[in-house]
Amino acid sequence: MDVRLLEATDDPERVVCTAARNDYAAGFVGEQSFAETMAAIDGETLAAKKRTLVGHLLDHGHFGPFEHPQATFAVEGISRSCMAQLTRHRHVSFDVQSMRYVAFDEVDPAAVRAGEMVVTPPAVTDPDWVGRKQRDGAVEESVVEERERIFRESVARSVAAYQELLDSGMAPEDARFVLPIGTAVNLVMSMNVRMLMHVADMRAAADAQWEIRELTERVLDLAAEWCPLTFAHYEEHMKGRKNRLAP
Ligand SMILES: Cc1cc2nc3c(=O)[nH]c(=O)nc-3n(C[C@H](O)[C@H](O)[C@H](O)COP(=O)(O)OP(=O)(O)OC[C@H]3O[C@@H](n4cnc5c(N)ncnc54)[C@H](O)[C@@H]3O)c2cc1C
Repeated sequence: MDVRLLEATDDPERVVCTAARNDYAAGFVGEQSFAETMAAIDGETLAAKKRTLVGHLLDHGHFGPFEHPQATFAVEGISRSCMAQLTRHRHVSFDVQSMRYVAFDEVDPAAVRAGEMVVTPPAVTDPDWVGRKQRDGAVEESVVEERERIFRESVARSVAAYQELLDSGMAPEDARFVLPIGTAVNLVMSMNVRMLMHVADMRAAADAQWEIRELTERVLDLAAEWCPLTFAHYEEHMKGRKNRLAP
């Protein structure tokens, strides 16, 4: 899995603060300097004032201003299963690599074995992995070896069948039906800061599956660089709490 920040609103917390100050300003924020807009906020410097206001908004559940800044992420190599979970979020915009038009007909068998075409869950290769819904804790090496054999053989059979169907002239959009739900896909997604926190509330939580949790943590790392005051506050005071941004 690879996750990159493609594009994002410049100075997102200035946008958040300007929008929030607009709600209580007698003047027009469009004509004021940012210093004028923030004059009534506690803090020695503009950076300190931004921190004060961002924290205040998040603490008081005033989330509207966080809908203005938007970020676009490119995601490589998540499973179709993870994609199905992610795309349930209706306020995120997606572009998903099409299996109707992109045929994997030059598949290198070594790449299939290496798990590049189909995502391999950790429970297939790691004896110490304890997943959320796993029946037992850590397992014997021999159990994992057997799991890996079954998994790899099943994937190889599916990919070989897919290849044969393509070779017979079947369109990729129909041949893909034999591929596993773990088949890797690339996508691009855009969301605003409020939505990003909501997705994190649901998908970085302990009850979410390992793959979407990993994806969400990577998105959060990028978000922390892009929009630092907000996501520092989110990590420290909001992440993992019971009363989420949206029920
Ligand atoms: C651990 C876990 C297990 C899950 N298991 C299943 C499962 O077994 N089956 C399944 O189908 N789904 C499952 N889901 C998906 C889940 O039910 C949601 O559909 C998904 O997480 C989208 O989140 P959301 O409902 O917050 O909506 P989002 O689309 O993210 O919308 C954000 C918020 O906007 C509001 N909103 C959006 N649309 C509407 C609307 N039409 N009406 C009213 N309010 C709206 C809600 O407040 C919502 O919380 C699971 C999710 C998790 C995290």
